[in-house]
Amino acid sequence: MVHTGVLRVCCLFVLFLYLSAFTINQRPNVQDNDVDAGELREDIPEINLKSGVDLFEGDIMLTPKSRNALLDKSYRWSFPIPYILADNLDLNAKAVILKSFEMYRLKSCVDFKPYEGEPTYIHFQKFGGCWSMVGDLKTGQNLSIGERCDYKAIVEHEILHALGFYHEQSRSDRDDYVEIWWNEITSGMEHNFNKYADNFITDLNTPYDYESVMHYGPFSFNKNESIPTITAKIPAFNDIIGQRLDFSEIDLERLNRMYNCTASHTLLDQCSFEFINICGMVQGTNDNADWVHGISTPGTNEDHTLAGSCQDAGYFMYFNTHSGSIGHTALLESRILYPKRTQQCLQFFYKMNGSPQDKLVIWIRTDDGSGNVRKMKKIHTIQGDKDQNWKIAHVTVHANQKFRYVFQGIQGDNTTSSGGILLDDISLKETPCPNAVWVVRNFTEILGSTTKGHLIYSPRFYSPEGYGYGVSLYPHGLAGSIYTGYTGIRFHMCSGENDAVMEWPALNRQAIITVLDQDPDVKLRMSSSRSFTTMSSHVIASMNNISQWERPSIVGTFDPSCNCHRSMDFGWSTFVSHSQLNRRSFLKNDDLIIFADFEDITHLIKTEVPIKISEPQTHEVVLERNKRSVQNQDDTMDHFIQRSNNPCDPSPCMNGGVCVIEKGQANCRCSSGQAFFYTGEQCESKQIHGNVLGILIGGGAGTIVLTMAVLSVLGRQGNTNHMRR
Ligand SMILES: [Zn+2]
Repeated sequence: MVHTGVLRVCCLFVLFLYLSAFTINQRPNVQDNDVDAGELREDIPEINLKSGVDLFEGDIMLTPKSRNALLDKSYRWSFPIPYILADNLDLNAKAVILKSFEMYRLKSCVDFKPYEGEPTYIHFQKFGGCWSMVGDLKTGQNLSIGERCDYKAIVEHEILHALGFYHEQSRSDRDDYVEIWWNEITSGMEHNFNKYADNFITDLNTPYDYESVMHYGPFSFNKNESIPTITAKIPAFNDIIGQRLDFSEIDLERLNRMYNCTASHTLLDQCSFEFINICGMVQGTNDNADWVHGISTPGTNEDHTLAGSCQDAGYFMYFNTHSGSIGHTALLESRILYPKRTQQCLQFFYKMNGSPQDKLVIWIRTDDGSGNVRKMKKIHTIQGDKDQNWKIAHVTVHANQKFRYVFQGIQGDNTTSSGGILLDDISLKETPCPNAVWVVRNFTEILGSTTKGHLIYSPRFYSPEGYGYGVSLYPHGLAGSIYTGYTGIRFHMCSGENDAVMEWPALNRQAIITVLDQDPDVKLRMSSSRSFTTMSSHVIASMNNISQWERPSIVGTFDPSCNCHRSMDFGWSTFVSHSQLNRRSFLKNDDLIIFADFEDITHLIKTEVPIKISEPQTHEVVLERNKRSVQNQDDTMDHFIQRSNNPCDPSPCMNGGVCVIEKGQANCRCSSGQAFFYTGEQCESKQIHGNVLGILIGGGAGTIVLTMAVLSVLGRQGNTNHMRR
């Protein structure tokens, strides 16, 4: 773990350096053949307004029970949280939701499991917009990932609501930090900027967080384009509020406090060597040299954690390969680790600036069957290159029992006069390694020497299935882009050696592109990640509507640099802004690190499972009834008890409604994919009176317990149409 005061002060200094000049982003315009507007993509309030939903604070589906979720411990979930992915979800959304679960598992103790009939669960469905209820309502609840909500940070945001959190700018102390421009808010939308008393919500003793993924962006619910409704009192944060990269550090602090999280599910180990105990790593005993805990020396050996930017800090491990003899070897071993899964990814940064004959070998040491961790297995070898640059490495480990990972440095030459092997910023996660890693060096220089339209192709990568693919990098965006200050990153297929046996067109594959935030603490990384899924609707109009995902040798153009055909690229003209890239650690050592994955997600087409009718209630309710029946020997009550052993038998729900039991009473819901809410009598169709959406929540046994005002925004000018049911 990295949280030295020195490190944080240092990083804050860097942050403020970059924040000194800021601009407020303009409204997005999706360009041709773009998945969406990338960093300029619309945020939750806009998506919901366009979908015709007007909810409490933009995306919170209120129920009478959920109003105090943050404070009331009875609305907290126990883990793992059962979930259902309804089949009405976009295929891409399903994969994005599963990826978001992985972010929770990595950064907190929150965990999820497929639903198996539990009384409480989250039913992910595609309704209009992106929204969630707040807290565990103990009855099973919906969470909507609608059109255009299939984005990692939005899913994380909605799940945070479900976990019991409200928006950051609704905190009781928000007026100390942000200005709300009431006159600039679309008429009737002012309620979205409510703030709450501290007896309603709690900040869990954390400071106001401009960087929270739960904070609105400046333009939420605005009347006039480009005029913000909410701005930060420290102007430098105007560019930060509404960030949709990932959880902020304080988001995680709050989440982990609320749920008493002490451990991650998938992070086994990480070390940036900032402390003298080097994370419990040990030196080998049978080797003839040692790794040294070295400190950054500006200009010569700079560490990776702080990139040599801070004095008296910035450590790494160093194996000197120029003063010993050929074959000298030094082992650095992790402490014993206990995996929960069967596959791990070891990521580390290394530099081999000694002889090109030097080697860095990665081993794992596993249980020999007698409880001793001593059986060695070689995993990967890296050959020296006398390069002065830090490089990133990923090594897949298959460990299913306790193990150590081991770095072995080998001196390959005794004629060199300087250099060695450096190691820094190691992490071991129980998640798959990225399939393709593309490092673009000297990115600032590239930005300085290129203009709009300049295109850099990645090498060809192969997906696990065998498809060739690549990444197109436009440092200043595409030629026709109307935006300045954005880098475009897009995906394309490449012809390759397996094309004859691959399936064409390559549909239902998810392309994920991630620009890595190189923060040494993997939990605090806020990488920029975007994805899309190949669909049959992606066609090339100029080629007789042939699928864009047909063989690149048919739809692509020949590129001599890879000796392959590259298909037309698809992705984001405004993937990430230059100002964003200069924030955080996206350009550490001026390296832009891009991960690109292309995965078959066909298996996610069918994920929905039926909601099981709950058993005749929990212990508690049955006991309560028995007590009442003893107290009240009334025939009617006895009859009620007999009958209510299963209030859903016979089902009182009509029109295809599904009966579930809530507090001993029948409660009707609409089955997924069919309609919106059960009104108590029948399932209502989602589209009522054109664009007006009726939102009704059915209470117990047909009683409507909450009716909400329904608002549909028919036009951008505030042409609204109210309907109360
Ligand atoms: Zn929200």
